[in-house]
Amino acid sequence: MRDLDVAVIGGGIGGLCLAQGLRRAGVRVTVYERDGTADSRLQGFRLNIEPTGGVALHACLPPALWEVLVATAGDPGPGIGFLDERMRPLVMIGEEDPGRDPLDPATGGHAVSRVTLRKLLLAGLDDVVRFGKEFTGMAPAGDGTAVTATFSDGTSATADVLVAADGANSRVWGQLHPEAGRAELPAVAVGGKLILTEENRRWLPERLLSRPNIFWPRRDFLFTAIFRRREQPEAIIDRLGDRVRALGLDLEHLLADSRDDDYVLWAYIAHRDTFPPGFGTMDRAEVREMLAARTADWHPDLRRLITESRPDDLLPTRFSAARPPGSRDHGPVTGLGDAVHHMPPVGGLGGNTALRDAQRLCAALTAVRGGEKPLLQALRDYEEDMLRHGFDTVREAVRNTEAAITRNALKRSAARGFFRACGAVPPLGRAVLN
Ligand SMILES: Cc1cc2nc3c(=O)[nH]c(=O)nc-3n(C[C@H](O)[C@H](O)[C@H](O)COP(=O)(O)OP(=O)(O)OC[C@H]3O[C@@H](n4cnc5c(N)ncnc54)[C@H](O)[C@@H]3O)c2cc1C
Repeated sequence: MRDLDVAVIGGGIGGLCLAQGLRRAGVRVTVYERDGTADSRLQGFRLNIEPTGGVALHACLPPALWEVLVATAGDPGPGIGFLDERMRPLVMIGEEDPGRDPLDPATGGHAVSRVTLRKLLLAGLDDVVRFGKEFTGMAPAGDGTAVTATFSDGTSATADVLVAADGANSRVWGQLHPEAGRAELPAVAVGGKLILTEENRRWLPERLLSRPNIFWPRRDFLFTAIFRRREQPEAIIDRLGDRVRALGLDLEHLLADSRDDDYVLWAYIAHRDTFPPGFGTMDRAEVREMLAARTADWHPDLRRLITESRPDDLLPTRFSAARPPGSRDHGPVTGLGDAVHHMPPVGGLGGNTALRDAQRLCAALTAVRGGEKPLLQALRDYEEDMLRHGFDTVREAVRNTEAAITRNALKRSAARGFFRACGAVPPLGRAVLN
């Protein structure tokens, strides 16, 4: 057994998942988070956890907390539909997957509330997470086998391993790899949500209420997904309260903020140059009006989805993608998630990749502690896999973005024709798209 002290910079999705896993494995870990408190940043949109992320969360969280997470989440629905802007189906993929079990981490999907996910990832880590600790720099310590991080409040901390989990624009990764940085993409997106009410449930098409959909119009792109809780907090407390109490935690307190509404999420993506020059300074009601004008000839239900969403719930976003680092020789410092391989959110891959990193880094550090591998060897092996998978995923997200915003009419109509052909000949669709 080797005594190991791990410092994680950043208590986001990846950093906290790593901390939960290390804690479970008995490895000493401290998370240094810039935010002042656990609920400084309440993020609005839900996160779609796919099997890659589900397997990681399942491995790192105590089993009872994983079950709570699944119960609070929504089932994203089977497969994905490709449609045109008039809501005519082009092709449906994976609708009837007999191997899909919504509750199995390896096959199911989970639309999780970011607030609830953060609370569950923080649960039981009171003595692990230090809030109000903004990382400012680091330097080798001792004979170079340790590293010291400094914080904006003038304090410092020394550990055997330091992990950059501080998200896009990472200061830790930026100090290690000033050459890497991020490339801006010529895409803009507006995310929105239509909160479900009795009234709009009557006109919303079943397709929008049951599964994710990609709309492939003649220009631009729209993605929709449904977020509907599997279980109400009261039922979850009845079913799982005792098991969570056995961990020394209070489930009622953990679920106190998870009474968020069910809604249909949408994301409208377009080429930056086709948006008006004043887009960056428009207020959200003006943004919504602009989208209404752009979708004038779309199916009326799709337009209503956009025009009946509250302006306050709109989130305009610009896209960028990380560049791979040059050298790999940085001693006992490594990274995970957006800090290393930030990507555009087209496809919902970033958080899942951060969770995958966390699980694999946890396994690597646990092996070091068990004396199975020297530390630097374990870190470099982890990084080889993390960088390969991470940047493959960045490239996939960039390709998805480019396909969504392309203004090449031939490419767009070829894609529609291709999807339509796959839909018209189901065996072809299964062979090519599944
Ligand atoms: C609109 C939108 C929708 C998305 N939807 C999905 C989805 O459905 N599925 C999916 O998988 N991904 C999705 N993503 C991507 C996902 O949110 C990120 O990939 C994920 O949050 C990355 O996790 P992380 O732990 O690496 O970084 P983060 O979650 O960003 O955490 C970084 C943490 O580091 C802290 N920090 C930053 N700087 C410092 C510092 N100097 N010192 C100390 N702490 C610091 C921050 O406060 C933060 O808590 C979406 C992204 C966006 C923008």
